Amino acid sequence: MKNTLVRTADNIPWSYREVKYLLSGRNLVLDETNPNAFKIDCLADHPFGGGLARITFDSAASEWSYRCGVCNKEGFGNLVEQLEQWLNAQGVDSRGLKAHYNPMLQDENDNALRFLPDVYGRPMLYAGLIHFLYGKPGVFKSWVALSLVKTNNVRFWDFENGVAVTGSRLKALGTPVEKGHVFDSPTSAEAVKARVKEYVKNPPEIVCIDGFSGLAGVMEIDPDSNQDVLSVYTTVFAPLRRAGIAVLVLDHLPKDSGIEDFPIGAQAKKSQADVALLVKQNARTEDVEIFVSKDRLGVLSARCSGVGFPRLLGTLTLEDEGEEVDVKIASVREASVNGKKLETIEARIMESIWRFVSDNAHCTKSDIERAVRGKNDLIRDVLEQMVDQGYVKRQLAGKTNLHSVGQSLEITYSHKD
Ligand SMILES: [Zn+2]
Repeated sequence: MKNTLVRTADNIPWSYREVKYLLSGRNLVLDETNPNAFKIDCLADHPFGGGLARITFDSAASEWSYRCGVCNKEGFGNLVEQLEQWLNAQGVDSRGLKAHYNPMLQDENDNALRFLPDVYGRPMLYAGLIHFLYGKPGVFKSWVALSLVKTNNVRFWDFENGVAVTGSRLKALGTPVEKGHVFDSPTSAEAVKARVKEYVKNPPEIVCIDGFSGLAGVMEIDPDSNQDVLSVYTTVFAPLRRAGIAVLVLDHLPKDSGIEDFPIGAQAKKSQADVALLVKQNARTEDVEIFVSKDRLGVLSARCSGVGFPRLLGTLTLEDEGEEVDVKIASVREASVNGKKLETIEARIMESIWRFVSDNAHCTKSDIERAVRGKNDLIRDVLEQMVDQGYVKRQLAGKTNLHSVGQSLEITYSHKD
């Protein structure tokens, strides 16, 4: 039996002082009769609590012993080895300091896109980063998250849909029953923290949280307060990210607001997130579209179409494949007007201008700029093109240009591969 404690960082034994220092947060009590012994809360998470462990160091032989009433009785393997793993997992040196790291030596596989492949097999979630997927209800956000359960090692906190809805969706997605033992709906901040601790120790690939408001509720924090949202990052998201887990948080858009650059509530949600994806139904085509409103590493935004903000990544559909439903994410589309290709954003602006002008004859340029979403200079450019090409007619009335609809505009879309 192994009874020494070796520090992985430099392959030298942990000293008594270091061990005591690192364990001091676990209700450490010194033994009055033996200066080389103390008691702590056992490192194992006992289901019913009450595990006090006694740790003794034999300095002559440099050997440790670890005794816990519960663990020894349950036969929990080699406890000294478990203590060694725990100490090394703290990643500190002899002064109790974490080692400095070199960002250039980061493993290339860290923070790589790895999960949620689109229809061309290109993944859309980064390992070890925090993603917000936000939008109004009914745009398949939960379906996207649930589709991950079938193919990945996922843990899923469901604060939104409940067992009946989630169960039937998982079945519809063809999820094998044995893959379904990954759900939880923690009901207190303590329960959330205990899960985080568990995942950090033994990391799954992905943690899905559906959704942020439910999490805020059980953690009793105010989702509109930046400071409170930051505390959720500190206690929940950041430790998971550090453990290399892809974190996917589902969230809502503010009600009746034209602002789509941020999920509802505190700005810290997005400023601290690595990736923010907006899901939204296109009013004209009724397609559900995914937009990138933040991408720290830029691989996803590079896949997006043209200009504009947030940028269009692609469409999201639920397809019936015989018995099963499949979540399909297709990349951006190419638009063409009367056979001439153009950027999707320009096509979108063209459509909105045309629609607005046909509903509002004799409108001014500023009316159009106010009504159409997008940058004013882009709207102005597109409007000029439309006037040149006869889609919009322009008349001068006094000193003001008035616009009305000209020839009909036909835009066709095709998927770009
Ligand atoms: Zn124990």
